[in-house]
Order: sequence, then C-alpha cells, then structure tokens
Amino acid sequence: MRVIVVGGGINGLLVSRRLVQEGVSVQLLERGEPGQESSWAGGGIVSPLYPWRYAEPVTALASHAQQAYPALVAALRDETGIDSELERCGLLFVNTPDAEPALAWAAGRQMPVQTLTRAELHAGWSGLAADADTGLFFPTLAHVRNPRLLQALQAMLGRHPLAQVLIDAEVEAVLPAAAGHAAGVRLRSGQLLHADAVVVCAGAWTAQLLAGAGVTLPIRPVRGQMQLYKTAPGSLPGMILRDGHYLIPRRDGHVLCGSTLEDAGFDKHTTEVAGQELAAAVRAIWPALAKQPLLRQWAGLRPFAPNGVPFIGPLPGQQGIWINAGQFRNGLVLAPASAEVLTDQLLGRQGRIDPAPYQPGRASQSPEG
Ligand SMILES: Cc1cc2nc3c(=O)[nH]c(=O)nc-3n(C[C@H](O)[C@H](O)[C@H](O)COP(=O)(O)OP(=O)(O)OC[C@H]3O[C@@H](n4cnc5c(N)ncnc54)[C@H](O)[C@@H]3O)c2cc1C
Repeated sequence: MRVIVVGGGINGLLVSRRLVQEGVSVQLLERGEPGQESSWAGGGIVSPLYPWRYAEPVTALASHAQQAYPALVAALRDETGIDSELERCGLLFVNTPDAEPALAWAAGRQMPVQTLTRAELHAGWSGLAADADTGLFFPTLAHVRNPRLLQALQAMLGRHPLAQVLIDAEVEAVLPAAAGHAAGVRLRSGQLLHADAVVVCAGAWTAQLLAGAGVTLPIRPVRGQMQLYKTAPGSLPGMILRDGHYLIPRRDGHVLCGSTLEDAGFDKHTTEVAGQELAAAVRAIWPALAKQPLLRQWAGLRPFAPNGVPFIGPLPGQQGIWINAGQFRNGLVLAPASAEVLTDQLLGRQGRIDPAPYQPGRASQSPEG
C-alpha cells in the first residue's frame, strides 16, 4: 500500500510514523519545512486546558493519547537520540471558578487531584501572586517540548526506508480516485502524484485546500500568540493556569506564557496588544518572572473545528481522500490518538477508539457545520 500524507505538522508526522510502522510506503508532502507551523508554536501541554469543560470525544482522544505519550517519547529517544522532554510536573489551576465540576470530572476518571488551601498554595508555590486564593493541582499532567518532538519524528522518518519526506512541495489540489486513475494530488509545480490513499493533515489550511474539491469543512485558523522568558531551572514547580492563561516551565529554565485566541484569518504576525495581554498574565500569575527580559514572542494558527472535535476519517464522496485535522487547541495532546484513529480506519481495522464521533461526514449533517 502507498499513501500520500499532506502536511508535516504533528498530525502528518505521526500518521506517517504509524503507517510506515505498519509496512505502508508514505510520501509526506510539506509546503515549507515540516514542523514549523502550529505544532511548533504550541505550548505542548499534554492535556486540554480546563479538561472538564470539553466534549466527550475530545476527552476520549486525550486520555488515550496521555497514556501513549511516555512510550512514544521513549521510543523516539531510542530511535533518534532526541529527547522530547516529557515532563510530568503537574498542572495547577489557580482561582478556578468551576472547582466542583472539575473535581467531579476527575473523580469519574480516577484522575488524581489535590485541592489546595490558600496557605498550602503559597507554601508550595511561593512565587504566586498574592491574590491567588485557591488551587486545584493535577499532579499527573505533563508537557512535552514540542519542537524537539517534531525534530525526533522528522529524524525517525528521515531514516525509515518506507518514508519519503518532500519539502517545498505545496499541494494545490487533491484528486479523488476515479475510473482510470488512483487518488492523488497536484503540486503547485504541476507535478501529479498518485497513491492508494491521500491523508490531508494540513492543519488550519485543510478546509482551504479541500474547497477546491468542492468539500466544505468548518475548519478555520484561530491565531494564538506566546511569549518566552527564562529563569533559573526549577523556579516554577509545575505548570500554572489562571484566567485562561498559563505558564509552562521547560527543563532548562525557559518559561512559556500563553496564549491569545484571535480571529485574524491566516495572518501570523505578532502584535503589541497580544504582547501586553501576555505580559499582564505573567504578572498576574508569577510576578517575579515579569522582571525577566522577554526573549521572544511568536504566533501560530490553530485549526479550529466546532467544539474542538477533530475530523478524522474518509471524506464522503471523495474516493481515496482522508483527513486528520481540526484539533484546535489540543492538537499536540491528541496527536497520538488521532493518528491511531486515522490509521485503524485506513487499514480497515477495528481499533481501540470508536471513530464515529470524528467522521468528516458529520460536517454536512450537523447544524454546527
Ligand atoms: C499558541 C498556541 C498554543 C498551543 N498550545 C497547545 C498545547 O499546549 N497543547 C496542545 O495539545 N495543543 C496546543 N496548540 C494546538 C496545536 O499546536 C495544534 O492543534 C496542532 O499543532 C495542529 O497540528 P497540525 O499538524 O494539524 O497542524 P500544523 O502544525 O499547522 O501543520 C500543518 C502543516 O500542513 C502544511 N500545509 C498546509 N497546507 C499545505 C499544502 N497545501 N501543501 C502542503 N503542505 C501544507 C503546513 O505548512 C504545516 O506544516 C497550540 C497552538 C497554538 C497556536
């Protein structure tokens, strides 16, 4: 079997990895360089933010993926020598208004959680702002250093005999299978490529690309901006989330502050307004960090889909065309499970995860589409 994968973000790379591991030949086509778009820009929290607020199909993918992450990172480290720095440091929710549903959600999933009083909070997390009153701490939640994870996946595919990664290969059109030819793509260069299946993992650009084939999907870009600071390694005991903004401490002392949610089309510029929003968040969460110099600010385009539920499966009416896109704010955490749902369906197997909630056909059936 031969498969073309369009898009070299976390979803395209992980689908490619799973397919070559199953003995499938893969041609991964990336418009620029792999791993430079949303998957690079993201924070790498291996959990949805406020996970109790999400629809069950998102939770189902997240919990499978959270279990898969340690083995994935270990395998990639063995295969490539690149450590994706999966850190199970826990996530602290400060002054969360919906603590009760959060605790009920965690209890229903046997997910460990600790309720911290004001005194406990400030004893364990001494740099918190003075007005931090309550804390919910989920000690098992992790983050991954996503740029390293993307590098490791590229390195693994780069040396796999069944994988071919083409850079600067922009797909202009997807071509469903028809009498006389297999499914395929047309590149901007005019070159035609064919395979047994085409899997579109083009993130925020997925709907735009498929519009040419007459497919309407409710996937659109939502810009997110982040800031980067540096402090002494270990200064923050774990990740912290307050009023929709978060801090993620990397192993080497870098700390990410995210993120904004902006409707700006495909514009990936950073803005001063977002810079002020993020700097205010740093001051509100961990004031001492705000005294450190800002090292960098960047933006990425998340692939929004209604309710954050991605589209994973065959495109109705488009023989041989599949998609795996629309993970919105959770594409990094969901990626191992998304790739599993896609490959199980593509290989005609009954998988561990029910693929029904993610079917692309739902876009035309539900009012949200
Ligand atoms: C600021 C920010 C913070 C985030 N934080 C987190 C987090 O903490 N945890 C989490 O789980 N998620 C997070 N996310 C979301 C996550 O990053 C995305 O959901 C995920 O990266 C989407 O992956 P993708 O592979 O679908 O898309 P992308 O990474 O965008 O990859 C799509 C690829 O397709 C390529 N492409 C597009 N069109 C074509 C074409 N026509 N031909 C060839 N190639 C094409 C693009 O160049 C790109 O490389 C965050 C996102 C942002 C922006």
